[in-house]
Amino acid sequence: MPQQHTDEALIQLDKELLWHPYTSMSHPAPHFLVKKAQGSRITLSDGKELIDGMSSWWSVIHGYSHPVINNAMKSQIDDFSHVMFGGLTHEPAIKLAEKLSDITPHGLSRVFFSDSGSVSVEVALKMAIQYWHSSGRPNKKKFITPRNGYHGDTFAAMSVCDPINGMHGLFEGALTKQHFIPSPPTGINTPVDEDYLTEVRQIIEKTHLEVAGLIIEPVVQNAGGMRFYNPLYLDRMKLLCEEFDLLLIFDEIATGFGRTGKMFASDHCNISPDIMCVGKALTGGYITLAATITNDKVALGISDKGGVFMHGPTFMGNPLACSAANASLSLLSSYDLTSRIQTIESKLTESLKRCRSLANVADVRCLGAIGVVELTSPVNQQQIQPLFVEQGVWVRPFGKLIYLMPPYIISNEDLETLGNAIYNVTKSLAYNTKN
Ligand SMILES: *Cc1c(COP(=O)(O)O)cnc(C)c1O
Repeated sequence: MPQQHTDEALIQLDKELLWHPYTSMSHPAPHFLVKKAQGSRITLSDGKELIDGMSSWWSVIHGYSHPVINNAMKSQIDDFSHVMFGGLTHEPAIKLAEKLSDITPHGLSRVFFSDSGSVSVEVALKMAIQYWHSSGRPNKKKFITPRNGYHGDTFAAMSVCDPINGMHGLFEGALTKQHFIPSPPTGINTPVDEDYLTEVRQIIEKTHLEVAGLIIEPVVQNAGGMRFYNPLYLDRMKLLCEEFDLLLIFDEIATGFGRTGKMFASDHCNISPDIMCVGKALTGGYITLAATITNDKVALGISDKGGVFMHGPTFMGNPLACSAANASLSLLSSYDLTSRIQTIESKLTESLKRCRSLANVADVRCLGAIGVVELTSPVNQQQIQPLFVEQGVWVRPFGKLIYLMPPYIISNEDLETLGNAIYNVTKSLAYNTKN
C-alpha cells in the first residue's frame, strides 16, 4: 500500500517519476502542486491562489469545477462510463454529434470522435487520403500546409507542423515530407497580399497531383507563434483547393468554441472546409475528447464501392467525455458568447497596452479572448515561471511569447491583475537583460 506523502515528498517523487510536457528528466523544471481549482482560481499546496490566465491550454473555458459540467458527468457515471463504440451507440454521443453538426459551418455533419487533438488530425489526414483513394486517385497522399503551424505531436501531425520549430530536424527520416507554403502575412485587418497568394498558387500548381489536402489553423496560428491573419486568405485558399482538387482541412482545435470571438474561427469567413478538427475546449477542458467532422462529399466518397474508414479508437465516443461536452455546449449557448468575448478582448487590449512601452517588447496584439505580448528574445521559462507565481497568476510563456487565454468567466478585475503581472514581469526581465 502506498503510504501518505507530504507535499514535499510528492513534489520530489514527481521529479523522479514523471515526464511533463517538453521537459528534461535529468534537469527537471519546478512543478507546482495543485490542490484545488475552482472558477478562475488554481490553489497550490502552500495555499497560494493563482488567477488562471491559460484556461489550461485553451481548454477550461467555463472555469474549473463548473457545477453544470460536474453534475452532467456525475449523472452519466451512474448510468455508464464507457461502452465500446463498435456495434453499440448511446445518447451522449448522438446528441453531441447533432449539436456539433448544428454549430459548425454549413455542410459539416459527419462526426468522428477520437481521444485527443493530435489523433483528430491523424484522422483528418487519413480521411483525405482515403477519399482520393476511393475516387481513383491513389497518388494524392501528401499535404500542403503553411509554415509556423502546429497540429499536434503524433507522427503525421508533426509532419505538418512548422518544419523549423516543429521538431523536424530531430525526426528527419521518420516523418513524411510535406509541402510547405509561407505562413499567411500577419494582421487580422491587413489587406490581402496578392503576391503571397501567387506564391501559394505556384506551389500548389507544382505539387497538386500528389497532394490530398491543405491543412491550416484558421485565422490564428496558435502554438506555432500566436500569429493572427486576415480571414480572406481562407476564402482564397478554398478557391485554390477547388481549382486543384485538394480537400481543405481546418484545424480548429485551439480556435474552436468562441476563443477568437466567433463560435469557430471559420465563422470569420464565408466558407466551409471539407474537414474540421475540434478538441481542447470541446469538453470545457474537463476530459480529453476530439472530433473530426466532415461533409457528405468526403464521407460518402470514402464509403463508395463498399469502402470503410480505417480508424477505430478503443475509447471512441466515450460517454463520460460526450456528456461533459454536451454540458459545455449548452453553457456556451446559454449567453451571448460574441459580446462576452468582445468584452474580454477590449479589457485584454486595455490591460496589455502599456507593455508596448517596454524595450524588450516587440509587439502586443489581441483577438477575442487571446492576448499576446511578443518579446524581442525568447524567455527562460525556468526563470520566468516562478515570477508569475509570485505575482499570483498562472501564465505560461513559451519562446518569445507571453500570452493570455483566460476562461470566459474571468472578471475585469482579474484581467487587469493578469495584465499588471505581465507588465511587471516583462519589465523586470528588461531590467535584468540590461544588467
Ligand atoms: C493543441 C493542438 C493540437 C493537438 O491537440 P492535443 O489534444 O494536444 O493532441 C492540434 N492542433 C492545434 C491547433 C492545437 O492547438
